Amino acid sequence: MTQVPILDNHIHLQPQGRNVEAVREFQKAGGTHLMLSHMPYDQVQVHSAEDFVLSYDITIGLAERCNRETSVKVFCTVGPYPVLLIPLAEEHGLPKAKEMMMRAMESAAALVREGKAVAIGEVGRPHFPVAEEVMAASNEILSHGMRLCKEVGCAIVIHSESATPETLADLASMADRVGLDRGKVVKHFCAPLVTADENHGVMPSVLASKSAFAEALGKGHRFLLETDFMDDPTRPGAVLGISTVPKRIKTLLTGEKGLQEVAWKISKDNPERVYGIEIE
Ligand SMILES: [Zn+2]
Repeated sequence: MTQVPILDNHIHLQPQGRNVEAVREFQKAGGTHLMLSHMPYDQVQVHSAEDFVLSYDITIGLAERCNRETSVKVFCTVGPYPVLLIPLAEEHGLPKAKEMMMRAMESAAALVREGKAVAIGEVGRPHFPVAEEVMAASNEILSHGMRLCKEVGCAIVIHSESATPETLADLASMADRVGLDRGKVVKHFCAPLVTADENHGVMPSVLASKSAFAEALGKGHRFLLETDFMDDPTRPGAVLGISTVPKRIKTLLTGEKGLQEVAWKISKDNPERVYGIEIE
């Protein structure tokens, strides 16, 4: 391969959004690979563990469609979106809701085993303050997910409160407790916490803003880049556009030779190592 691949490590697509059109825009900008993350969809209201599976099918279907209709390679990650614990607990009580989220983790792991997804994600805990017992239940669910990742040999993509060196240390020790390699823990929507002191071995998926990218590069090359593109037609421009990662990586390709090697590292070596996939 002579052309540097360009991967956005975290995007969403929605059935009522631009989906395939957005992926074409990514392709036109020079993008080659996408990590499509599952999210709750309006099309499936989740009231039970079974509903998660119906909802995962939407993500997998969108990835398949994009793989058929564009030349971008779309991988996907599935898992119970952490915030759903709250409405499920209101409906069924916390213990039952927790059990449903655990089962949803197991369904996600089964899809990874079948090769339909490459990792469990995005999972974790609510990004806003919640009752102590909700946080405790979220951590139990997350630990269960990590244990399943260890068994399957896949990565886990974490949604949580804003990343600080302390939260990443906490995620790293949770992984240690179940024997999951810290390098298989991806912190989505991460600040440029690129040094080992800052991330404790967790893989940061850095938001591809100009300033965060520059800061990340100044610290090292062990990170992934993402936009967290939402494909939400009601909130255009709410997050970074889908052509942002290609734009950032391209700034490396026109630079000195050393920078091209950095591009290879971020776009190929890092994701291959984390996800056990082949980027070609
Ligand atoms: Zn996301």
